[in-house]
Amino acid sequence: MLLAFLRDHDAPCPICGYNLRGVTLSVCPECECPIELGVSSSSSYLGAWLLALLAFAMPLSFDLIVGTMMLIGVIMSAGENAEGVFLLVSLVTLTLVSVGMLWVLVARKRDWLRMPRRRQWRMAWALFAAVFVVHLMVGVGTFLIAN
Ligand SMILES: [Zn+2]
Repeated sequence: MLLAFLRDHDAPCPICGYNLRGVTLSVCPECECPIELGVSSSSSYLGAWLLALLAFAMPLSFDLIVGTMMLIGVIMSAGENAEGVFLLVSLVTLTLVSVGMLWVLVARKRDWLRMPRRRQWRMAWALFAAVFVVHLMVGVGTFLIAN
């Protein structure tokens, strides 16, 4: 089927871009990589989904590191500094939300990919912005309590 398709269709090699039209073997004559016939969908595009994952994975590591530092600080001050406690509670909450959202995004990946691509991007950027704004609010809140 592959060779029958390539007999009268232009198709670039997925590795080197060489036009495979008319090849007689199932390897690219230019780069010698094996080629195969497949079915694909424009909905299997993962860019927006990966951006949504990144929106939660990126702050997760930050929240975990700063949260751990705050936990040590709060224990050493026996809960005396209010901004430390606020920041600790906020970071633990944000960590749990991020883990939960990552789980939802992975578990419901198929539903995500069924959305129109434009909506996927809008959703991904909205999540990214929301995570940023929430972190900004935590930062401002901590600053206001400290002063
Ligand atoms: Zn090639």
